Amino acid sequence: VTARARRGIVAAALIAAAAIPLLAQSRAASDKLSSDWRRLSSDDIDVVGNASESELKRAFDRIQSFRSVLHAILPGIRIRSSERTLVYVFRDYGSFERFAPRDGRGRRLAGVGGYFFSNADSNVLALPVFETSEATYQTAFHEYTHYLIDKNNVSSPRWLNEGLADFYSTIEMDSKDKVTIGVVHAGRLRTLRSRSMPPVRRLLNGDSALRLFVGGDTELFYAHAWIFVHYMILGEDGRRGQLSKYLQLLRSSASNEEAASQAFGSLEDLDRDLRAYSRRMMFPALLFNGSFVRAAGSAVQPMLEADALALQGELLANLGDAAAAEKPLEKALTLAPRHLKARLALGRVRVLQERADDGITLLNGVADETPADFAAHFHLASALRKADRFTDSLKEFERARSLNDGSADAWFGGSLVALSMNRDTESEAALRQVFLLDPKPGWYYSHARTALGAGRYELAVRDVRRFLELSGWADESGPYAAFVAVIAHWRLGQKAEADSLLQQAAAAVNPKSWVASVTQYLQGTIADDEILSRAKDGGQRTEAHTYAGMKMLLAGQTDAAVTHFKWVKERGERNYTEHGMALAELKRLEQAR
Ligand SMILES: [Zn+2]
Repeated sequence: VTARARRGIVAAALIAAAAIPLLAQSRAASDKLSSDWRRLSSDDIDVVGNASESELKRAFDRIQSFRSVLHAILPGIRIRSSERTLVYVFRDYGSFERFAPRDGRGRRLAGVGGYFFSNADSNVLALPVFETSEATYQTAFHEYTHYLIDKNNVSSPRWLNEGLADFYSTIEMDSKDKVTIGVVHAGRLRTLRSRSMPPVRRLLNGDSALRLFVGGDTELFYAHAWIFVHYMILGEDGRRGQLSKYLQLLRSSASNEEAASQAFGSLEDLDRDLRAYSRRMMFPALLFNGSFVRAAGSAVQPMLEADALALQGELLANLGDAAAAEKPLEKALTLAPRHLKARLALGRVRVLQERADDGITLLNGVADETPADFAAHFHLASALRKADRFTDSLKEFERARSLNDGSADAWFGGSLVALSMNRDTESEAALRQVFLLDPKPGWYYSHARTALGAGRYELAVRDVRRFLELSGWADESGPYAAFVAVIAHWRLGQKAEADSLLQQAAAAVNPKSWVASVTQYLQGTIADDEILSRAKDGGQRTEAHTYAGMKMLLAGQTDAAVTHFKWVKERGERNYTEHGMALAELKRLEQAR
């Protein structure tokens, strides 16, 4: 059996698992149909949700059309992945809101109109139906563009990712196969005309993206990113190619300012041209004619109540909201106690709640019953890793890979476990596989943090160097990755190497930015209380306390360090990489005691 055929079988098994309530004890309860959730499937997409039948069908058709059009006009683009794509369509904003993404402290983000994420076992798009069909599908295409950027390994800064997503979101596809790309985004244009446009520099150096979904500047950030991308792609012949040149230069430049001036020339001229462009009456667009293949899906089908609840719980678990996920999952299990998807998701929820043993028990049960389910074995492997049961974890990651050998996440998990077991050759071989499947530099950064937490300082330094070689200092994560290597160098007694990395970081960042303050703090030019008082929000405080803890440890003040790390554990933002770093230090100190 080839790998491709095997994946087909796994996918079929996953659909079956979701659609059939296995060994239901109370037939009547488990057969109960959902009053408003329905589903529609094709070979690699499932559309589910409480939107109307016609809306689900329209979502399916439009997404299929969108990707076949892009496939036809951007040859070579990868529009599928080995994991299925699950599209949630909510009937209105009110029913979507419960499923809005969470911030690092578990609070729902306001003003999010839809989202995309990708994890080891699925790609997920979540969308509300808005009042106009136009707004709904702009959101759908926006999110689907994020999917394509992710699947095609385009490493791009946040503003470019959003600008491209908006650029393709306004695609118009008429029934006669006429396609228009680059149609003006009316809402973005309105924003631009009612506010004064900030300098492009703020977009490029990441300042504009800092307070997304918390401050009032979210709208302006999106509008600015959209007009910039529109202008670069369609606005002026002389500018064409500058954007890809900039991306290329980002990897080899000392800062994004340097890359920007080489690629775009004078940024003042660019600001002036962009302002003039935004005031135009007419905007260029791209027109395509041709026949685009559109795949057919199944009919819209009713869903079992237990399946619908399991899908809702799974989405909330993916958003990291364990408390909210628990309710629908427990309800699903009341209706169908053996429901596989609900047990799998509840197992993951238990792990999130730091109840690893309960989680492992649930996940073990599901994995035993579904020997061919990739997700079950993958999540069991991850839970075992978290509980430091490395031998068992390694076995499960192997199992997961035998079910989907195209999963970079499963190889990566195996690499991290091998690292924790000091099996370096094995860890390195698995990491090579990860890069063959998914060459994203971010894997090295993540590997480096695990190495630091495991006390493997030479490896941490090596991983950071690889990350910086691939992604460059101008990447938003560049200086933060460097800090991991700085801490590792300190612990290896290599002060000169640490100093040199900090100097490079200082040269790469905007001197007035927060990350510049962190750099100065690590260089020793500002004091402990100063960095803490400069921290303006929960995220910055999470960083400040983590790095303060790291410095205290170096100075031999273990108790003070533990106080900082505990602050992060109890009050820090969970989606910050520093949160994981602080927890790893606490664990390491505990074990050393
Ligand atoms: Zn977006």
